[in-house]
Amino acid sequence: MTLAINAVYHGFKVLQAQFVDEISSQAYIMEHIKSGARLLYLANDDDNKVFSISFRTPPADDTGVAHILEHSSLCGSRKYPLKEPFVDLVKGSLNTFLNAMTFPDKTMYPVASRNDKDFHNLMDVYLDAVFYPSFYQNRYTLRQEGWHYNLDSLDGKLSYNGVVYNEMKGVYSSPDAYLENEAMKALFPDNCYRFESGGYPDAIPQLTQEKFEQFHKTYYSPENSYIYLYGDMDIDATLEYLDSEYLNSFEKTGTVDSAIAEQQPLPRTADIEAFYPVGAEEDCTAKTYHELSIVTGKA
Ligand SMILES: [Zn+2]
Repeated sequence: MTLAINAVYHGFKVLQAQFVDEISSQAYIMEHIKSGARLLYLANDDDNKVFSISFRTPPADDTGVAHILEHSSLCGSRKYPLKEPFVDLVKGSLNTFLNAMTFPDKTMYPVASRNDKDFHNLMDVYLDAVFYPSFYQNRYTLRQEGWHYNLDSLDGKLSYNGVVYNEMKGVYSSPDAYLENEAMKALFPDNCYRFESGGYPDAIPQLTQEKFEQFHKTYYSPENSYIYLYGDMDIDATLEYLDSEYLNSFEKTGTVDSAIAEQQPLPRTADIEAFYPVGAEEDCTAKTYHELSIVTGKA
């Protein structure tokens, strides 16, 4: 099926159409008029179909809210009130790719499958997860995926626990993570890249249920999303499904501010000295790291 430029299919207006030789694909850029969702479709004869929905999620602190949200979205939703739909999906699906990733400025939910029915199911689980997650009702989700207090015994020591908390403690057990974190703070002192989108272990326990919900409400809307479709599929049926099942329930507000201001260059090369933790008994000889970081354009 060839889509015509400026035509509207199930609420999606075709803004651009272009053949891309390098990937032998007809590319279409569309916008869902009512909700403001953008969509890139690469039409070709590849039966390994891909769907992805991404949101711009610039963090405003080191609590890892974007990362914890990525985990928590996949802990049950309106249509899929399971404890761990993601885990069940991996088990029963014919997917060729299934994941979710948090970047310093965006969060991405991609799936791929060669089976039509499976592809449709996966797409539905992901869309329901991002737009109707059950963590608003189930406050245990943030505690499980983010952080909670842990006490092994009554006279034991109170500590923190949580899936992302532990994951990031693992990341920050390496001096390289501190080095990169310090470099980003120094190079991008004024925009979101100075923050640890994954969550800095000491900052994660500052995340509250209210701030967590607010982040989802602010950024997980169609107008702040980009949907990606790739492969040999019934595009008319897919657009109809996206419109009637999800996007049609949302109205574009024009108020989502997720733009990332460009960092002004530093006046001169900055020398930063920072520290990472070592064991009390550890010898500090020859454990200094040096790094030279340079911002190169917008890439
Ligand atoms: Zn994670």
